[in-house]
Amino acid sequence: MIRLPRTTFPSLAAAIILAALAPAATLVAQTAHPSPGLDTAGMDRSVKPGDNFFYYANGTWLKQTDIPPDRSSYGAGAMVGELTDRRVGELIQGAAKANAPAGSDSRKIGDYYTSFMDSTAIDAAGLKPLQRTLDSISAIHDRKDLARVLGSTLRDDVDALNNTNFYTEHLLGLWVAQDLDDPTHYSPFLLQGGLGMPDRSYYLDSSSAMASIRGKYQEHVAAMLKLADVPGADAKAASIIQLETRMAQAHWSREASGDVSKGNNHWSRVDFGTKAPGLDWETYFAAAGLAKPARFVVWQPSAVTGLSALVASEPLDTWKDYLTFHAIQSRAAFLPMALGRQSFAFLGTVLNGAPKQRDRWKRGVSATNGALGFAVGKLYAARYFPPAEKARAQAMVANLIAAFGERIDHLDWMAPATKKEAKAKLAVLKVGVGYPATWPGYSGLEVVAGDAYGNAERAQLFQYRASLARLDRPVDRSEWVMTPQTVNAVNLPAMNALNFPAAILQPPYFDPKRPLAMDYGAIGAVIGHEISHSFDNQGALFDATGRLHDWWTPADFKHFEASSAQLVKQYDGYKPFPDLAVKGQQTLGENIADVAGLAVAYDAYQRSLRGKPAPVVEGFSGGQQFFISFAQSWRGKTREPALRNRILTDGHAPTEYRAYTVRNLDAWYRLFDVKPGQALYLAPADRVRVW
Ligand SMILES: [Zn+2]
Repeated sequence: MIRLPRTTFPSLAAAIILAALAPAATLVAQTAHPSPGLDTAGMDRSVKPGDNFFYYANGTWLKQTDIPPDRSSYGAGAMVGELTDRRVGELIQGAAKANAPAGSDSRKIGDYYTSFMDSTAIDAAGLKPLQRTLDSISAIHDRKDLARVLGSTLRDDVDALNNTNFYTEHLLGLWVAQDLDDPTHYSPFLLQGGLGMPDRSYYLDSSSAMASIRGKYQEHVAAMLKLADVPGADAKAASIIQLETRMAQAHWSREASGDVSKGNNHWSRVDFGTKAPGLDWETYFAAAGLAKPARFVVWQPSAVTGLSALVASEPLDTWKDYLTFHAIQSRAAFLPMALGRQSFAFLGTVLNGAPKQRDRWKRGVSATNGALGFAVGKLYAARYFPPAEKARAQAMVANLIAAFGERIDHLDWMAPATKKEAKAKLAVLKVGVGYPATWPGYSGLEVVAGDAYGNAERAQLFQYRASLARLDRPVDRSEWVMTPQTVNAVNLPAMNALNFPAAILQPPYFDPKRPLAMDYGAIGAVIGHEISHSFDNQGALFDATGRLHDWWTPADFKHFEASSAQLVKQYDGYKPFPDLAVKGQQTLGENIADVAGLAVAYDAYQRSLRGKPAPVVEGFSGGQQFFISFAQSWRGKTREPALRNRILTDGHAPTEYRAYTVRNLDAWYRLFDVKPGQALYLAPADRVRVW
């Protein structure tokens, strides 16, 4: 089974739904910024490291910290996010006050934000901005009209490999990326979509928790329709959910969608009519601006077949009601406040457990980041990521790559030919630190002061057209898929490239003011995690040029699978709830990357010492600082609905279990005197060593 990993932190399906409320980021409030070094006050030394390393490193912090009411989870990433958000907020508000020349990026940033913040004007406009879309839906008289409107909703809002986002509420989602058979060209990838809830399991799972969420979803759909003065809202809500349930039945599971060997299916344009009859594909593609491409990659073929059949079989009126609801839902953040509040009540509170909506300015920052991300990022990088920090991070990356190369040399199970390929791939790995070398421009994007809804629509369309335009251009390996102000990191497997945005290069992940041991334990493990993705069960499928071509011998793969099976078992054993365990298989790729990342970061740390002794800090040796810093970088707590959502839809294990990665490293046992009988103790044979 081949799994899709890629990022360091989750991009939750539900977080993506929330993004429809206020695009991108999730971040909040004012918390004290951690001072350089370890947070020793946040530890709980009454807990034995070998019994629960997460609580040993974070116990006092966990006891003393409440999840803010506008959040579904809180922790290290969220705190860095808050700081970054506040800084980005200041930059955006500064741009708004600067009265920059018309047409400049600064002016666009300012006008976008200011228009979003003018809730009085948005309330006064009512549903007027949406009217054109609602009229086009009312005007649907036959299946050809339906295909045209469905095609007009297609956006580049999914990503099967890099940011791994499998959710779109439109019927299908587009991802433009390097073709996996021909990495010198971009291809259009089509992914399943159409659901209003994060995953098929929300529609089909028989548990009472899911049944209750379904009931609340139906109430939510009816409430949104009523707020938009749509007559017969209750009956329409019932038929919309029935349609979505049929879509869910056609959908692939999250686990199957994550399997690249199942996803790389090339269909010619004519294939669609025979392999997925129902939808008028020519009309659909023409409306989507995709009249030209002769070939597509269809990621979940049977789902596309099923969805297309529903376009022909379900009543036209049901489709019109469905499109009406989603037109309102997808733009709720830019429509009157009552719609935004209702959306939050379901997407924020029911699906994620957050009782309170974030302040409007924070949503304004997120929305502006979503629309003009790299223009904002350029300001952010110039202000907050000085060249000296970039140089320190680059030196760490170089050390990590060298340490990874040594690990490959010393592997006793890997065939020499495979090692040679792995080293070739390592040699051409393209590592981006902080921000891209060339900045994407926004010259074709029109931002109109006072038109929040229109700006959002134009920004999304601008981004979509920019993606379509890439289909005609040569592949650019220096492209970034994350903005510099994103607190995350990513591996782009077909590009053989990594992005480490400036915003993750901050405490507690990275801090030029503290000993290197702590940086290697935190951001070093993240860098190692991302590098290892190039060589894991999925990375093994892409060669140095990015072609989907397995370069491992069967014997290598067998060893790898045996280690993988051990790791699946380890994570299946974690049970956050009596009725729900961590999914070892679904999270396998990420767990392998965590184990490999931590191991290689530890080696790189040893290399960085060059034989000199490490400074002792507050009684902790360098090695102890390394592991405590690692566990503190995973500190966090999550509300129950969000945690359940994450376990069901995310490729990453919940943060607490990621901290337990330490169990697989021999050095940790020695440094913390971990003994048989302690809860985290693993016999040497059960410790997983992949790399
Ligand atoms: Zn990852």
